[in-house]
Amino acid sequence: MKLHSKILLGLALGAGAGIAVNLGAADAPWVAWINRYLTGPAGQVFLRLLFMVVIPLVFATLSLGVAGLGDLRNLGRVGAKTLVYFLVSTALAAALGLVMVNLTRPGEGLPPETVERLQALYAGQAQERFSSSGAGEFGIDTFVQIVPRNPVRAAADMQMLSLIFFSIVFGVALALIPSERAAPMLRLLESLAEAVTKIIELAMRLAPYGVFALIFVVTSTFGWGLLKQLALYVVVVLAGLAIHAAVTLSLLVRTLAGLSPARFWSNIREVVITAFSTSSSNATLPTTLLVAERNLRVPAKIGGFVLPLGATMNMNGTALFEGVTVLFVAQVFGIELTLAKQALVIVLSVLTAIGTAGVPGGSIPLLMMMATSVGVPGEGIAIILGVDRILDMTRTIPNVAGDLTAACVVARSEGLWDPRAVEAEPGTEAFPKKPLDESPGASYEPPEL
Ligand code: ASP
Repeated sequence: MKLHSKILLGLALGAGAGIAVNLGAADAPWVAWINRYLTGPAGQVFLRLLFMVVIPLVFATLSLGVAGLGDLRNLGRVGAKTLVYFLVSTALAAALGLVMVNLTRPGEGLPPETVERLQALYAGQAQERFSSSGAGEFGIDTFVQIVPRNPVRAAADMQMLSLIFFSIVFGVALALIPSERAAPMLRLLESLAEAVTKIIELAMRLAPYGVFALIFVVTSTFGWGLLKQLALYVVVVLAGLAIHAAVTLSLLVRTLAGLSPARFWSNIREVVITAFSTSSSNATLPTTLLVAERNLRVPAKIGGFVLPLGATMNMNGTALFEGVTVLFVAQVFGIELTLAKQALVIVLSVLTAIGTAGVPGGSIPLLMMMATSVGVPGEGIAIILGVDRILDMTRTIPNVAGDLTAACVVARSEGLWDPRAVEAEPGTEAFPKKPLDESPGASYEPPEL
């Protein structure tokens, strides 16, 4: 059986077993025991294996990608295209969310006692997450701190924007020094990237079990009753995410990348499943990079640049979720947001999506801050915390799929990628053996999964 089928099977079995246990014995001590000593640790080990490689991988692939772009003009052009694509696709997602929440108005019919109960249940948790995140200090310093005082500390604290900044500057410097001086470092980075890729390949072999465990923990302990009470809101978010993926992203893939959306989604299925089960763009990044090279044949210098940036900055699903949630909470509290305020919600959704860390629930603290700044009580977000896990898993799919669409679009616009080449099933005769590009970082053949 192919690996992606095994992962899918792990997902289905884990979800099925978890739901069965939840229906039959949700509060039984043995369920807590299993999650504490078996499935919980197994899922965490898988997740940590992926997180373990993120820092060296981002540093190596991003510096190599930037150095591979050659001169600063190329970098400027590719960087500008990438950022414009990120902003436009994220804004489209946020706007779609707002249209949907305005049409359906899920916040209006919610009984006040449900609202009170949910708030009482989750207010403490909301407050804790907000204060431990430091999100309240968003301001000019947030931007100043993107420049790390100490890159090693930034890496140790997983401050991705700072690490990205350092890696880009490092790559630029490598491109600026004489090439014979840069060569040893480039070779070192290539070898680092290759070794780390090998670790990912090994970790992904554990994915069927890791995914089983992660999903089992969620479904066996999830409060399904809550889902019913917030059903309309949950349906609006999930439908919005599905429409963004199936229509908006697919149209972008078709028109700007020239690739058939069916082929695109089929070639990236490992990424979709990994994003869904880990709920984290950062944890999915290793798989995203591997799949971009192996199944989409995006050249390393483009993938290595666009994908690490995208994992932190490009979050289509998160922006959509944030827009819907702020309006939902406003509706619950009977606050009418003017058109101008709603436009502000779109702008803030895009900005906060850029600032959101690609970790499970990363957007919640920023979402609270954003709600407050348009006059919606931030504590109101507590209402949806109980169902956030399911939404988080789902919104991470368009978050990472959006990065892959960006990589294809940018690679094609640079003349470095031909969509016709990847129309075949990966692994078959017709599928190209290597990316078209031969610059540094593209010299190794990514392993077969
Ligand atoms: N979990 C999301 C991600 O990693 C971030 C969020 O929306 O909370 O992409």
